[in-house]
Amino acid sequence: MNKGSKLYEGKAKILYETKDKNLVIQHFKDDATAFNNLKKAKVEGKGVLNNRISEYILTNLAQCGIKTHFVKRLNMREQLIKKAEIFPIEFIVRNIATGSLTKRLDISEGTVLERPLLEYCYKKDQLQDPLISKEHIYSFGWATETEINQIDKMTLRINDLLLGIFRGIGIKLVDFKIEYGKTWNKDTDEKEIVLADEISPDTCRLWDVKTEKKLDKDRFRKDLGNVIQGYQEVARRLGIMPEETNISEVNFGKTTSIKFKKK
Ligand code: UDP
Repeated sequence: MNKGSKLYEGKAKILYETKDKNLVIQHFKDDATAFNNLKKAKVEGKGVLNNRISEYILTNLAQCGIKTHFVKRLNMREQLIKKAEIFPIEFIVRNIATGSLTKRLDISEGTVLERPLLEYCYKKDQLQDPLISKEHIYSFGWATETEINQIDKMTLRINDLLLGIFRGIGIKLVDFKIEYGKTWNKDTDEKEIVLADEISPDTCRLWDVKTEKKLDKDRFRKDLGNVIQGYQEVARRLGIMPEETNISEVNFGKTTSIKFKKK
């Protein structure tokens, strides 16, 4: 699949056009950002791992009946996806209280929530993605009530499936962010809502079940060190460590340099 011109460059990914107007290439960068771009760094190998992890998760969700934008992985950093009109909303799901929720409402860190909590944020960097209610979404036409009802159901189902995938490898899914878009379905000739963007340690909080060690982007946000080792540990437990790496085991505490063979 030939890469066309750049459509969009975000903090961690770039989208390129393809010859097919309904398909785009999603490229995963090594750039990490936090606190609305105030903190920036390159985490070598992150893009390769997120590409692989997100492929694995979205493929598994699709096998369970969730419609996604994912078509196929093209190489170490790129995947082919369906072009989608993205809703300007971040859909956040929380199973355990941490992060902004604990600060905003003074909830104790680590509180296990009785049921998953769904939150909506308006995707707007200049405003730091503010928390919004469904009424804001309907008032400003960011999505219709019918669309949100369908998305809420999909989101809860995705949460159940992800909780299972991660529990099975000794990881607690604390919270995560997902995005949705509308794509054209060539079989029905209609638009349909699909899960878009990515699901990776950049967008989820993942804690080891026994030690509660963080295996996600909080290692970067909180300067905990061993950022790439956390992501690698997730990939290793999922059984998808890219073969190209020259690392055979993940060693917390030691600084391990990772080299990916260039394709
Ligand atoms: N999240 C994300 N992108 C964002 C904001 C949040 O992927 O722009 C994820 C984050 O990694 C976490 C969940 O959404 O898994 C909830 O994040 P929270 O609102 O607690 O973010 P904080 O403000 O604490 O970083």
